[in-house]
Amino acid sequence: MTVGFIWGASGPRRVSGEGIGGAIKGGGDLGKEVLERLRRAHRLKMEDFVSSYVNLTTGSPFRVLVATILSQNSTDKAAMRAYSELERSVGLTPEALVRAGLRRIARAIRVAGLADAKARAIRELAALALRLGDPDLKGLLESGPDAAREALLRVKGIGPKTVDVLLSSTGTLDTIPVDTHVRRVAQRLGLVGERESYERIKSRLEEVFPPGTRYEAHLLLIAHGRSVCRSRRPLCDRCVLSDLCGYYRRAAGGS
Ligand code: SF4
Repeated sequence: MTVGFIWGASGPRRVSGEGIGGAIKGGGDLGKEVLERLRRAHRLKMEDFVSSYVNLTTGSPFRVLVATILSQNSTDKAAMRAYSELERSVGLTPEALVRAGLRRIARAIRVAGLADAKARAIRELAALALRLGDPDLKGLLESGPDAAREALLRVKGIGPKTVDVLLSSTGTLDTIPVDTHVRRVAQRLGLVGERESYERIKSRLEEVFPPGTRYEAHLLLIAHGRSVCRSRRPLCDRCVLSDLCGYYRRAAGGS
């Protein structure tokens, strides 16, 4: 049986069956309309999103960060393979990762790409967890999103998007991490401009998608960007959002 998940005000919740339900309410009309259509169009499976999968299966913020670092500039499938291999050959505790040489970590995660840089980031994160005496980094998250963000952004290789994935996937902050798919779909729909900053896009999307739906919106926009609103040759004729889409109207020669 497929295990799915939904995101609500109380955090991620597993659901069994063929997909996720769309019972989340509230917020602006446009956001609600987009969400309802995307829910009908895409079935979210937690194994398609490595950070969510790791959060739901381990409950460890430290491991979620490792998985999210692995997914940078990579596919979730490759990141999942790298995560499993790292767990098998090195171990996923801060102690094991600090003890292991960078080369050993890089070898284990090679399939996800940028192995040397990611190995450095993972090892630096492990050193931070040891320094804090907080192996799962649960204490850091409990200190609040601002304190967690400040501490994590000091780790080279962890940027605002990685922190937002951690904060939103663990239910610490109701926000929308902006990855390449989210950015592309939002830009094509006309929700944000072409040259907007990460923070500007995020805050605009937070205005569009009501509280309690934002992490789900993040996942649905990624699913849409992967399968329909692809970077090259988007499948506009099959898109459930085409009548709302500025890109589609322009391509069709409309206003
Ligand atoms: S109509 Fe085309 S460009 Fe617009 S959201 Fe859909 S797939 Fe993307």
